[in-house]
Amino acid sequence: AADAVPILVAEGLTKTFAGFTAVNNVNLSVRRGTIHALIGPNGAGKTTCFNLLTKFLTPSGGRILYKGEDITGLKPADVARLGLIRSFQISAVFPHLTALENVRVALQRQRGNSFDFWRSKSVLGVYDARAAELLEDVGLAEFIHTRAVELSYGRKRALEIATTLALDPEMMLLDEPMAGMGHEDIERITALIRRVAANRTVLMVEHNLSVVAELSDTITVLTRGQVLAEGDYATVSTNPAVQQAYMGD
Ligand code: ADP
Repeated sequence: AADAVPILVAEGLTKTFAGFTAVNNVNLSVRRGTIHALIGPNGAGKTTCFNLLTKFLTPSGGRILYKGEDITGLKPADVARLGLIRSFQISAVFPHLTALENVRVALQRQRGNSFDFWRSKSVLGVYDARAAELLEDVGLAEFIHTRAVELSYGRKRALEIATTLALDPEMMLLDEPMAGMGHEDIERITALIRRVAANRTVLMVEHNLSVVAELSDTITVLTRGQVLAEGDYATVSTNPAVQQAYMGD
């Protein structure tokens, strides 16, 4: 599905915190239809970069283009409306709602008609059918009536992805999707990301290098706020500068 057209481009992206440059003149180009990973040792600037791209932070310099449009000055909600969506943090999943209800709320948000939604039983039925479908897609078919708080950590992350998919993103940004996961969850979420990416673009920050190796078309390695290397896994993992950067991490 990958083609050469960039969907998300960062040019000279820079972020300074009180004189400390956390992200320093980063150029990044994510091709449409690919899975692109942002990696690097602790403190490399991955999270800052991610927050800049999703507009949770305002850059000190540079610009960000989404489908050719300059989104540097936009708010996260405006960027989301364009189809560039960051996966919800776990805290954004309503713990006491069931999986189905959580996805329904996301669908409601996407359609933006909350009043009709809560009023009409037939509308509710349509949303619930779609919500059930999305939950099945992420492997939560058996858990649609389970409250989020009762789901395992890995299944909560899957629910998070389902609520993100409900917003029908063209491009998904995943912040450490494997963080805190056990082996089985990692396998399940890896397969899920691959499926999700079949007709979408994915950019993820991820620490787990075997997951990165398995999923990524392109990897950008950051160190000290700068791009150290870029390419496929075979290319970057054999790069001596990358190996050096990871030593002592
Ligand atoms: P990574 O995600 O790669 O571990 P971060 O983007 O979290 O790296 O951090 C990069 C550098 O920027 C670190 O040295 C960190 O201490 C610093 N940093 C991040 N956020 C802030 C902040 N809000 N204020 C000051 N320094 C920050």
